Amino acid sequence: MEALPNQSSVVPAAPRYEETYDTSEAEDKESMQLMRQSFKATIFASASPLSERPLCLDAIACAMNTARGNTVIGKLPRDHPERLSQMFNDHPKFINAAILWLLSHSSDDAVLHSASKDLLPCTCDTSNPCIAMLHSAEMPPDGIPGIADSMFIFVEIMLFSSDTQKLDRIIKADRLKRTKRRYETLNHFILVDPRTLVQAACSWYKVRDCAEAISILTRFVELRTPDMDTAFQAMDPEIPLLIVQRAFDAVIVR
Ligand SMILES: [Zn+2]
Repeated sequence: MEALPNQSSVVPAAPRYEETYDTSEAEDKESMQLMRQSFKATIFASASPLSERPLCLDAIACAMNTARGNTVIGKLPRDHPERLSQMFNDHPKFINAAILWLLSHSSDDAVLHSASKDLLPCTCDTSNPCIAMLHSAEMPPDGIPGIADSMFIFVEIMLFSSDTQKLDRIIKADRLKRTKRRYETLNHFILVDPRTLVQAACSWYKVRDCAEAISILTRFVELRTPDMDTAFQAMDPEIPLLIVQRAFDAVIVR
């Protein structure tokens, strides 16, 4: 396959939120830890017991919104272009657990059933003020697509500042610098198991209509990794037609 002439020059934009409230660094850290623990306990086919899951689906959806939308006191403003990158540096364990949760759901059945089933129902300990705070906002009935799209945006932003050589150096390093730790899990799916990356993106797009999943595949193509062509053999053959149908439907609605 020929090399693409240009990489995209437009940095994916962080979503904007109307809410204007602040959280302390301690609240931000606790929220990230709670999400990480929940993702670890609900990773598809995880050995961790579900009882170790501190946050339900609604609470994670709320936490994910606040993670992207809030201003954390002492950190970059939420509208700053480096805001999310700073968040990834501050919370590499969260970003690694989140990406593993997202991409380990790599079949239509896993995305349709396991992803939401394991995050339901609410058994959260709301005597914890942080957990109670994450139950104070009214969330959409099914928060899974929003959670997944947020994670795909995280991955897209991480990939924008990467190339195959950088990722390869990271995967071979004995000890990672603080700013590279966020790439540990993503590197595995880009360089070691790209078929699962492709399968997961296809299933999230097909079953949950996560448009950002297709953006990830676009970024993956731009990386031109050695196994890229082989990985795309795992692509669900229904996806190209589905993309065209959804684009057509969007035009009709307008
Ligand atoms: Zn709950």
